[in-house]
Amino acid sequence: METITAKIKSKDKEYRIFVGSSILSRINEFIKQNHTGKKVAVVIGETTSKLHKGRIMSAIGNLNPLFITVPSGESSKSREMKEKIEDKLLDNKFGRDSLIVAIGGGVIGDLAGFAASTFNRGVPIIHVPTTLLAMVDSSIGGKTGINTRHGKNLIGTTYQPTAVFADMDFLETLPDEEFKNGLAEVIKMSIIKDKSLFESLEKNHQKILARDKKILQSIIKRNIELKLEVVQEDAEEKGLRQILNFGHTFGHALEAYCKYKIRHGYAVSQGMLVETRISAAAGNLSENEEKRIMNMIKLFGFPLAINLDIGTPTIIELMNSDKKSLSNKPRFVLIDRIGRVKSRDGIFSFEVEKDAIKKAIEKCKND
Ligand code: NAD
Ligand code: MG
Repeated sequence: METITAKIKSKDKEYRIFVGSSILSRINEFIKQNHTGKKVAVVIGETTSKLHKGRIMSAIGNLNPLFITVPSGESSKSREMKEKIEDKLLDNKFGRDSLIVAIGGGVIGDLAGFAASTFNRGVPIIHVPTTLLAMVDSSIGGKTGINTRHGKNLIGTTYQPTAVFADMDFLETLPDEEFKNGLAEVIKMSIIKDKSLFESLEKNHQKILARDKKILQSIIKRNIELKLEVVQEDAEEKGLRQILNFGHTFGHALEAYCKYKIRHGYAVSQGMLVETRISAAAGNLSENEEKRIMNMIKLFGFPLAINLDIGTPTIIELMNSDKKSLSNKPRFVLIDRIGRVKSRDGIFSFEVEKDAIKKAIEKCKND
């Protein structure tokens, strides 16, 4: 098992992230040491519950937790579902002495995290991410939130857990498409911040796709460290966090165009194609490294071309209206070289000439 200590500067608070196999049973110990006397409620995704209830019960059943099961799917990140969780807690006489354990993918973490942050003005939460994406991305950094008809994640809080337990064993049951969803963010992280991670992904891609636990553990651990570095350095979201948006400017536009019927990881992989091309055309990325990034995307089974019948002006228009664009112009994180992004005076995303964007998209369509 690996242990990472997360320090949240602004709050002068620390918590630990455990990464390993068969580490669920350690939650019990952790709760005894850190949360004695708390009433425990487990907020769990329906699928995770069906597949892993036995293991979960043998790990923390002795704490006699209240199970609150949440249906799978993005639509559970709603005001209604938050209310249901709160009512269930109140009906069962949970109060200030509550401890929430969130077991599931990013949907569960975001929803339960939000509920924990407002219940009795905030009760502690332990995250047990069960998808690759939740392990490397959504359980790290403390963002919580729900969706409304006006958009995704528009209501939420920043609320740190008291611990995160990333147990590799959950990944055994994760469908391929969900696994790849997480891999896209892992690839992204390597491109923007860590060349040696990039090289390790190149070298070990077969083992990773075969879900070799040893290599997965080291890759997940490294990703968590990298995300923490970004979050810790830019707790107020002043600049550096923008780099996490690589592949997401185009990716978000594609998701919006497809009315969110495509997977986020797939959209990000397509976004990385386009934004790598833009980095080469409008920035400093060499042709050789451009090819290496393209090859990486292919190694993990993502398509190398944009195989969608979508007009370039439409997609540019959609990028303009993204909430992260300024003065209605899309901004891009540009890769200088593998593991490093372009930055100037604390700014990490840049406007790019419309023509260069157009050319990059067209190039990806024709490949
Ligand atoms: P998800 O939570 O919907 O999980 C994906 C699917 O996998 C679901 O159907 C779920 O039931 C199933 N599942 C979960 N664990 C499983 C397991 N071990 N075996 C088999 N099936 C399992 O999706 P996700 O990709 O984990 O997370 C996406 C969410 O995370 C989005 O709502 C997104 O907004 C949010 N997010 C948040 C942050 C943040 O910083 N808070 C960052 C990135 C994404
Ligand atoms: Mg993302």
